[in-house]
Amino acid sequence: MTNAPKRGIVGLVCAGGVGSRLGADRPKQYIDLNGRTMLEWSVEALLAESRVSEVVVVVSAGDGYIDEVSTRFPERVRVLKTGGATRAKTVLNGLMNACFADEDLVLVHDAARPCLRPAELAHLIDSVLEDDQVAGGLLAVPLADTLKRVNHDGIVEATVPRAGLWRAATPQLFPVGILIEALLAAGEDVTDEASAVEHLSLPVKVVRGRPTNIKVTEPTDPALARIYLGHAMNQQNSNAAPCLRVGQGYDSHRLVEGRPLIVGGVEIPFEKGLDGHSDADVLLHAITDAVLGASGLGDIGEHFPPSEEKWRGADSAVLLSEIVRRAADKGFHVVNCDATIIAERPKMGPHRPAMRKRIASLLGVPEEDVNIKAKTNERMDAVGAGEGMVAHAVVLMEKRR
Ligand code: MG
Repeated sequence: MTNAPKRGIVGLVCAGGVGSRLGADRPKQYIDLNGRTMLEWSVEALLAESRVSEVVVVVSAGDGYIDEVSTRFPERVRVLKTGGATRAKTVLNGLMNACFADEDLVLVHDAARPCLRPAELAHLIDSVLEDDQVAGGLLAVPLADTLKRVNHDGIVEATVPRAGLWRAATPQLFPVGILIEALLAAGEDVTDEASAVEHLSLPVKVVRGRPTNIKVTEPTDPALARIYLGHAMNQQNSNAAPCLRVGQGYDSHRLVEGRPLIVGGVEIPFEKGLDGHSDADVLLHAITDAVLGASGLGDIGEHFPPSEEKWRGADSAVLLSEIVRRAADKGFHVVNCDATIIAERPKMGPHRPAMRKRIASLLGVPEEDVNIKAKTNERMDAVGAGEGMVAHAVVLMEKRR
């Protein structure tokens, strides 16, 4: 295509139909396919291509469904209620009213082709842009069936050689100005944009598309479209990068006499215990905050305010379990946890296996996904003087949809 650099690419989706051959109670572009209308799938198929800056949807003036559906369109989509009696008229009205630049390239797409795949759309655009001999191009599929010409009595007159015959699909890609000129010249009988451009004797490139880009027309087609769309969705999900979030937690508590020492959900024999409103398990508090951090749920104080009497003496293991459950409600599940406890006395090392086991069970992960490290503070500062303990934790979580 000549002087191609830096021309915008826009989309125009023809959704002017008002009837349905499918036996549905609504125009076919509004039937449900795996949770979205056919029209939404067709629009999103164009928007999936990053070079497409906006999409105009052309519907008929009396369309009673578009207002509700269009609330779900992204900002890059405009709706024009200027559909005509024929496809050619709908496209022409859309182009005349959309105010695209003449030199922009427009992808004209059928609302009834929801199964267009990003790769074939990109292939169409690339193939047309890199060929400076053509005015534009379209997706098409070579015919696989043997063709018969049949008379009115249902008798074969001839077998038509299928070599060189293709089924035209959409999108069809042309410069806006050329397409308007072609449609004005060709009149309303043309059934696709390419044939209008052909009337101007301009070369049109055929780009091989996928046979799955069906035009939903027959009553059996929606079921097929649902299968193709479901397959594409599964592929997308399995290709999708995991949604991972890391969270960090820190806590400190004083050591006082007359309290049991509970760290990492394990009671440790010692002459002092950690002081606090709950059982003051410094390690579980740091891990709880890390879980909250990874799942974007704030901090432990917001969930269990010290001002509330019911948390007095609370078992921190119960609090952590509750937070893991609240994170799971948002789709977040623990991948692993690494934590450090800093204490001068007593020695934490011997208790690490029991802590690891307890924490793994509270987080709902295997023991090997929990790591507990114990350090002293080398007798420095308050922790080093044995006045209290500190804990740090990081937790990685995965969001599963
Ligand atoms: Mg605490």
